[in-house]
Amino acid sequence: VPDARVKGIAESIRSIRDFPKPGILFRDVTTLLLNPKAFKDCIDICVERYAESKIDVVAGIEARGFIFGPPIALALGAKFVPVRKAKKLPGEVIGEEYSLEYGTDKIEIHVGAVNPGDRIIVVDDLIATGGTLGAALRLMERVGGEVVECVCVIELPELKGRAKLNGKPLFTVVEFE
Ligand code: AMP
Repeated sequence: VPDARVKGIAESIRSIRDFPKPGILFRDVTTLLLNPKAFKDCIDICVERYAESKIDVVAGIEARGFIFGPPIALALGAKFVPVRKAKKLPGEVIGEEYSLEYGTDKIEIHVGAVNPGDRIIVVDDLIATGGTLGAALRLMERVGGEVVECVCVIELPELKGRAKLNGKPLFTVVEFE
């Protein structure tokens, strides 16, 4: 049964052509945040999905995973772990590199933020090529975490990002071509 809330969520996400560079159709979730009903529906859909899953950690990817992750974590009674771009966290860190169109990038978490055996969902706003989410997943597994599922508000299925998730399931709220 399709979820009746999804249409309002999809309609609240603005699309902007040629941002941040020519050829990119940018999916802007800031307009979803301006619609409290749609924003709440989006969070509720994710919370309902994991309500019985005994989630210990919601890991949110910088920057827009920091918007959607914390309300989900609070509702589930889970820890929130920020997955940050390199060199932002002040304590001892463990990191994971991933490739970009040109060069590489790195994400980090604090040592001790995730315990071995923790049940984790990894949250971001959008999956495009899957490079970022794939790296976060590898990082969680390197520290002994058990990633139950990856969660994104938006999926761009044409970019086949699911293939970068090493067989892990991905749940998405809306799909855009
Ligand atoms: P990727 O690693 O290719 O899956 O890229 C995912 C990251 O880039 C996410 O954190 C998104 O916020 C951002 N991103 C990539 N493509 C878009 C897009 N078309 N609209 C908005 N954000 C995007």
